[in-house]
Amino acid sequence: MKKHWKMIRLAAALVVVLSLLAACGNKKEDGLASIKDRDKLVVGVKFDTKLFGLKDPSTGNVEGFDIDIAKQIAKHILGDENKVEFKEVTSKTRVPMLNNDEIDMVVATMTITEARKKEVDFSDVYFLAGQSLLVKKGSPIKGIEDVKAGTKVLSSKGATSVKNIKEKVPGVTVLEFDNYQDAFSALKAGQGDALTTDDAILYGMAAQDPNYEVVGKPFTDEPYGIAMRKGNSDLVKAVNDALKELKDSGEYDAIYEKWIGKKPSN
Ligand code: GLU
Repeated sequence: MKKHWKMIRLAAALVVVLSLLAACGNKKEDGLASIKDRDKLVVGVKFDTKLFGLKDPSTGNVEGFDIDIAKQIAKHILGDENKVEFKEVTSKTRVPMLNNDEIDMVVATMTITEARKKEVDFSDVYFLAGQSLLVKKGSPIKGIEDVKAGTKVLSSKGATSVKNIKEKVPGVTVLEFDNYQDAFSALKAGQGDALTTDDAILYGMAAQDPNYEVVGKPFTDEPYGIAMRKGNSDLVKAVNDALKELKDSGEYDAIYEKWIGKKPSN
């Protein structure tokens, strides 16, 4: 009888272990298959970044370079560019939202870095930007060489731009905001001497307000990648295939020209 109970306990323990293993297996589920099952791609994009991802309050539509790239990825995976849902991310929330399963991928002005590669997987590079400075016209700051210890620079939490400028200019004061529109509002309110992030984003801001201009040459390389949860090699491959197809067909150049106003140089 004792032996009998022992066997039952052993069997129960086995069931628990096996179901735990199965749960782990599900967690590592194939992202591409679940997107296909759902028949919809859920993409994290910026809602406040003109040229890349900007929500038009009158229509509710989000528009920009990243949006068009995401639609083309949906078309490649699901055969229809409208089978995509956009969720707002900021530089700070994009990785947590991805790793909490709230989105399938991030297409949001995100630089591929070694540090980020520890948390997410990236597609091939799909856009080349570089960090620069936005100032009020007439500002004594004409480039990175004019940014000194004590200069007040504004940026967004979670952006590479913060770390980069601190490395370039020891002693610089960086005020970090939740997103770039808040940082731009702070610049307009005179809370800082310059705003720093990728040139492509700054050109969008300068287009929103002609009193501001991008100055100096870019002082970093910011290659953008599409971020996905780690371990989804099928999905990464599908995204890279989509990007390659876009480049080969000329569609990529058309999207680039539509938003950036010129042909890509690479
Ligand atoms: N590309 C830089 C980054 O990934 C700056 C732009 C952004 O914050 O999204 O951090």
